[in-house]
Amino acid sequence: MLPEAVLARAAAEMLDYEGSGQSVMEMSHRSGSYQAIIDGCAALLREVMGIPDSYEVLFLQGGASTQFAMVPLNLAVKSGAADFVITGQWAKKAYAEAGKLLGEGARAVASSADRTFSYIPALNREGFNPDADYFHICLNNTIYGTKFPILPDTGSVPLVADVSSCILSEPIDVSRFGMLYAGAQKNMGPAGLTVVIIRKDLIGDPRLGTPTMLSYKTHAENGSMYNTPPCYAIYICKLVLEWLRDEIGGLEKMKALNERKAGILYNFLDSSALFKGTVEKGSRSLMNIPFVTGNEELDAKFVKEAAAAGFINLKGHRSVGGMRASIYNAMPLEGVEKLADFMRAFETAN
Ligand SMILES: *Cc1c(COP(=O)(O)O)cnc(C)c1O
Repeated sequence: MLPEAVLARAAAEMLDYEGSGQSVMEMSHRSGSYQAIIDGCAALLREVMGIPDSYEVLFLQGGASTQFAMVPLNLAVKSGAADFVITGQWAKKAYAEAGKLLGEGARAVASSADRTFSYIPALNREGFNPDADYFHICLNNTIYGTKFPILPDTGSVPLVADVSSCILSEPIDVSRFGMLYAGAQKNMGPAGLTVVIIRKDLIGDPRLGTPTMLSYKTHAENGSMYNTPPCYAIYICKLVLEWLRDEIGGLEKMKALNERKAGILYNFLDSSALFKGTVEKGSRSLMNIPFVTGNEELDAKFVKEAAAAGFINLKGHRSVGGMRASIYNAMPLEGVEKLADFMRAFETAN
C-alpha cells in the first residue's frame, strides 16, 4: 500500500509538476527540476533515518535480488569469505547467490529451517568467521513473519542486512551496519527502486570482472546517475518520506503506530481458539503476521470469505500455508481493526 495522501499528491502533480509544464515521468533526469527531486529524496531519507554522514545513500535498480549478487561482488574483496544466517527464503537466496561467486567462502553460521523458519536462531560470536568480509542477515523475514529481536555482534566484520520489508517501520541504528539494502516496493514507494545505504569506507574497487553497473563505486561517484535512475519511483519515495516526517511525525511515531497495529492482531491470535500465530513470541515481526487455523480447508474458506469482504492478499506463502497479514506502514489502524473483527466473526461462525 501507499499512503492515500501520497497518491492524491502525485495525482495532483501528474500533469504539471510545480509549474514545469510536465509530469515527473517526462522529465530529463539531467534537468534542474529532477536534480532537486533526487537530492531532496536522499536528504529526507538521511533526516528520517538519521543516517550518519559517513554513509552513502544510493538509488539503484534491479530489486533486492540484484543486491544478493552486488554485495559479494563489492564487499568480498579481502578474504573472499562471508557468513550468513539462514532465516527464510530471501536469506537463503542471498546465501546461494554469494555461493556462486565465493564457493566455500560463503558459509551458513545458523539456520531456522528445522522449524519452518518460525524463529530467529540464537547466535554466538564464537561461531563467526573473524576474517569474513561481511556478515549477512535478513532483518525482517517477510514470508515467515520473523524479525531479529537483537542484532548479532559481529565485531569488526561489517554487518549487512536486507531490510526490504522493515525499512522505515521503526528506527534503525544505521551505525551498527556496514550496509543496508531494500527493494522499495514494500514500505518506501513503487517497485523499480532499490535503496542502498553503505558505509563510505566499504565502497572501493569490486572483484575483478564486475560489470560497471554492478559496482557501488560507479553509482557513488555519479550521484546515482551513472545512467537513468528510476525517476518516478524516487519521486514517489520522496513523497512517502514527506508523509512519514510531516503526517506521521517520524520513525519513533511510526514504530508506536506499527506496534499498536501488530498488537491488535497478536493479541487476538493469542486469545483465539481457532487461529494461531506461527511465529515464536520473541521473534515476531511488526510487518508480516502469518497465522493458521490448523485445518487447510478452513484456511482456504477463510481466505475466500476474507477476499469477498475486501481483505485481499491474505493467502500465506506456499511454503508456510495458511494466511499472512502484511501490515506495512501505509496500512491504517482501522484496516487492522477491521481484519481482527472479521476474524472474530469467522471464529464464531466456524
Ligand atoms: C520482497 C523481498 C525481496 C525481493 O525483493 P525484489 O526487490 O523483488 O528483488 C528480498 N528480500 C526481502 C526481505 C523481501 O521482503
